[in-house]
Amino acid sequence: ATPTALLVGSGRASQLGIVIKGPEILESTRRIDTMVLDKTGTVTEGRMELADVTGSRAEVLRLAGAVEAASEHPIAQAVATGARAELGDLPEVTGFTGHAGRGVSGTVEGHVVLVGRPAWLTERGVTVPDGVTRDHADAERTGATAVVVAWDGTARGVLAVRDTVKATSAEAVSRLRELGVRPMLLTGDNRATAEAVAREVGIPAEDVLAEVLPEDKLDVVARLQGEGRVVAMVGDGVNDAAALAQAGQQGLGLAMGTGTDVAIEASDITLVTGDLRAAPTSIAVSRATLRVIK
Ligand code: ADP
Ligand code: MG
Repeated sequence: ATPTALLVGSGRASQLGIVIKGPEILESTRRIDTMVLDKTGTVTEGRMELADVTGSRAEVLRLAGAVEAASEHPIAQAVATGARAELGDLPEVTGFTGHAGRGVSGTVEGHVVLVGRPAWLTERGVTVPDGVTRDHADAERTGATAVVVAWDGTARGVLAVRDTVKATSAEAVSRLRELGVRPMLLTGDNRATAEAVAREVGIPAEDVLAEVLPEDKLDVVARLQGEGRVVAMVGDGVNDAAALAQAGQQGLGLAMGTGTDVAIEASDITLVTGDLRAAPTSIAVSRATLRVIK
C-alpha cells in the first residue's frame, strides 16, 4: 500500500469519527476476524441508575452512597446519585479504597463499609445471610447489576442498578457479522446480566465472556489469539487498557472516545462519539482503502 493512499484512508475514517493513530494500522484492521466488546460503557451507555434497594433503606443508601461517592465506577455514580436524591448530603468517608472488578471499601460514621460482589465480601470475611444472597440473585435474574452492602462484618442490603443498551449497539453487532467478524461480549459483570445484554444485541450465550476480572481480560484476548484468531477489542475503561494493548499486538485495540484517557492511549483507534457502529465502519473503511490500492 502506498503511504498516500493510506493517508487518504485515514482521512476518510476521521471524517466518520474514527481517529487512527497511524496509517499503517489500516493493514491490521483488514485481517480482524473476532471483535471482543466490553459491555459497560461500550455496548451499554455506562450510565447506570439506581433501581432497587433491599435492607434498611435509608441506612443502606447513606453508608453505601458515602463510600461510592468517592469512586468513579458507573455503579458507584448510580448509587451516589440515587442516595443523594433521597437523602441530600452524604456523610464523609475516610480510608476509601477501590478494588478493581470487586467493589469499594471505606469508613463512614465509624462503620467499616464494603460494597461489591458477594464472593469478594465473603473472601474479606464478611458474613452474608441467606436472605441477602437471595435478594442479590433475584435482582441479577432481572438483568440488573446487583451489589451487596456490608458494614461491621455483616452484609445488610442489596443495591440493584440498571444500565441501558445503546440504541446503535444491535446494528453494530449485525454489521460486524455481515463483515465476517465474530462479535463477543466481555465483562466483569455477572453471567445473568451479561447474557441479558447479549440477547438484546444479538450475541449468543456461548460468545459471552462474563465474570472476568480486570487483570484477566488481557488473558482472555491472548487465549483467543492463541486459537489463531485475529482479535480486535473495543473498550472504554481503565480496566480495559491492558487487554486493548494486547489486542493491538496482533490485531487492533479500539477505544470509545467517551471513555477514559488510559483506554484511548492503549488503543490504535478511537471511536470519537462512542457509537459502536463506528467499529464495523472502521473495518469497512480499511478494507475499501486497501482494495483500492491493491
Ligand atoms: P465491566 O467489565 O462490566 O466494566 P468491572 O470489571 O468494572 O465491570 O466490575 C465488575 C464487578 O465488580 C461489578 O459488576 C461489581 O459487582 C463489582 N464492582 C466494581 N466496582 C464497583 C463499585 N465501585 N461498587 C460496587 N461494586 C463494584
Ligand atoms: Mg467498561
